[in-house]
Amino acid sequence: MEPVILLGKNPQELGELTTSLGLPKFAARQLSDWLYKKHATSFEAMTNLAKTARTALAGQAIIGCSEPDSIAVSMDGTKKYLFRALSGDWIETAWIPDEERATLCVSTQAGCRMGCRFCATARQGYAGNLDAADILNQYRSLPERDTVSNIVYMGMGEPLDNLDAVLASIRACTEEWGLAMSPRRITVSTCGILAPLRRLLDETEVHVALSLHNPFDKERADLMPITRSQPLEPIFDLLRSYNWRGQRRLTLEYILFDGYNDSEDHFRQLVRLTRGLGDVRINLLRWNTVPGDDGLRGAPAETLELFRDSLNDEGIIATIRRSRGGDIAAACGLLSTARLRNTDAPGVPDANKE
Ligand code: SF4
Repeated sequence: MEPVILLGKNPQELGELTTSLGLPKFAARQLSDWLYKKHATSFEAMTNLAKTARTALAGQAIIGCSEPDSIAVSMDGTKKYLFRALSGDWIETAWIPDEERATLCVSTQAGCRMGCRFCATARQGYAGNLDAADILNQYRSLPERDTVSNIVYMGMGEPLDNLDAVLASIRACTEEWGLAMSPRRITVSTCGILAPLRRLLDETEVHVALSLHNPFDKERADLMPITRSQPLEPIFDLLRSYNWRGQRRLTLEYILFDGYNDSEDHFRQLVRLTRGLGDVRINLLRWNTVPGDDGLRGAPAETLELFRDSLNDEGIIATIRRSRGGDIAAACGLLSTARLRNTDAPGVPDANKE
């Protein structure tokens, strides 16, 4: 029988397990505290549980945490960790320190099946979904865990393509019984899939980032094939039905490609799409060239500045996002574990391996 994976389970689910093992009612609460408040890494460490309870749990369940296998360190301080998921697949996580805070970029799938043309993860294909424990473990087992002020679901994979695990991990992060983080410290990024987006918006309070990159369906479909089944207008209609003037934030991510999505027409359509979206923000991104890319070129700095200034003139908050971790392939769109396929060894993730 497969062991029960505990990390990611809520108190009710933990209660079902402890009851089935004949443990007292309060054991579920104790277990939850050991998992989420005290970050226990073994049943042995759960000292307020009776020895018989610890033995019973160890026979049926695993915690689901594991240390990172290796680390690459960027010149700018960004670190990229390699974790092994419970399935055996490799995944990457980026820790991005800033002056007073650090952002953790977590993966939700081993690879991705969305096929975005500009993304290194897409090129490695899709190996499977991560368990909620795998998602949480990227924070839980991070050496710099206590420095993390924000978690962004922007690593490998499309979060809305693994929504149940993503929601379970968000609940474990934000509920009082879990890590008790504010949902305002969490951002989920998506290429835009209507039904799971609605669920995410209804069932959580987290910030949302939509990877837009082109405001015209036909052109965007060439860049992001998901657009063929998920056109932009229904996605934007859905987004317009939520309140983006309060504390919850909506961001549109827009990589500027030279001669591809940087014309006056693109600008006008981008502005049109933002109408009715409250205090939406636009992040303009520099293109991180993916090895073997087929002809896409990043727009020059002046184009990014022109777009930013013109958007600001329209009353839209737009910023040029500083790219981090480019030298260790930890920057946006560069995460990939394709090099580790068919091997058990963790390998060397790019430059400056510690
Ligand atoms: S950009 Fe995101 S959704 Fe698109 S292929 Fe890469 S990981 Fe998947």
